[in-house]
Amino acid sequence: MSRQVLDELKRQIPLLDYLQANDWRPARRLSRGRFMGLCPLHEDHEPSFLVDPLKNLFYCYGCGRGGDVIRFAELYYQVKFPQALALLRQWLGLPPLLRETTEFYRTQLHRHSEAVAYLYERGIRSSEVIEDMRIGYAPGGCLRGWLTQLGYSRLALREAGLVTTAGYDTYMRRVVFPLEGNLYGRSLSTTAPPHRFLPGAKGGLYSWEQARQYPEVILVEGLFDYAALWQAGFRNVTCSLGTHLNARQFRQLCDGPRTVYLAFDADTNGSGPKPRNPLLTGWQSTA
Ligand SMILES: [Zn+2]
Repeated sequence: MSRQVLDELKRQIPLLDYLQANDWRPARRLSRGRFMGLCPLHEDHEPSFLVDPLKNLFYCYGCGRGGDVIRFAELYYQVKFPQALALLRQWLGLPPLLRETTEFYRTQLHRHSEAVAYLYERGIRSSEVIEDMRIGYAPGGCLRGWLTQLGYSRLALREAGLVTTAGYDTYMRRVVFPLEGNLYGRSLSTTAPPHRFLPGAKGGLYSWEQARQYPEVILVEGLFDYAALWQAGFRNVTCSLGTHLNARQFRQLCDGPRTVYLAFDADTNGSGPKPRNPLLTGWQSTA
């Protein structure tokens, strides 16, 4: 990886923007445009995290760590350098509109007890997994107003599929999971179609950059299965978002030698094979 490519990535992702997208808020402004706030990398009670947006550098007086946006992603997500780059590229790839929508839905989640209750019922019980998967809630009837206020045109919202032609929020009473370039919405209501994506590709395997580091990978069908395994401590998990792998997902699975365990459940809706026990199959990829 050339120095030039890294510099270009850093130029495209100002440190302050990235921090703010990860919920960091400055506590006070210092001289020369610098900011001080609580450190997102350690349990901080007094603001000790210094950010210099002009130099695109941070330093924490509490835990002694500092660096650029790549270093921040490494420390924050506890990943190695190449994975940090991949995460940053992925973040960059998500259009600003979907990023704003994801953040808006995340703030809605804790304001709607029915959404939290639904997650609990589906086995999602730790706040860590909600944070990690950036799960949100679309109550319906408020996204359009929020995004319009931010300056997005109604046409842009319609084209992204976030608003219907009649002008209503597309996602109503849905738990929302951000994907690579799309948003998956699971309905809380039994009368609406349970699964919904925005128009466009569902993307690659879920959280592949993390899973691909392991020699053994567990492939599950849905995001709730993923969350259950994540809570049980598994990090070598990925999800196909349905029973069919698209070409991109298949290429990803085969991008290196590894053993893949398929853990698809025995649905009674006829969408998959019907073994007596949950299907667990291993296969070796030697690509
Ligand atoms: Zn710190």
